[in-house]
Amino acid sequence: MDKSFQIKPTCVCCGACAADCPVSCIRRQGQQYVIGRGCIGCGDCYTICPVGAVQVRVVSEEENTL
Ligand code: SF4
Ligand code: SF4
Repeated sequence: MDKSFQIKPTCVCCGACAADCPVSCIRRQGQQYVIGRGCIGCGDCYTICPVGAVQVRVVSEEENTL
């Protein structure tokens, strides 16, 4: 099992997650920030978001290989 992080539309674009991401894979896209390729699943963005806009999802092995 692995974890996948996603940013919801409730993001207020404060930029905290992007500034904190150790691999710099979060960028602004229109009215919200999005997580791009390269995420290592550290969870920093999830912890730091002041409005709880980062969602964590557990990904099954099969899904992970798609
Ligand atoms: S989980 Fe870690 S590596 Fe992935 S987007 Fe969030 S801060 Fe970046
Ligand atoms: S920390 Fe939360 S509100 Fe701020 S840019 Fe990231 S997802 Fe959006």
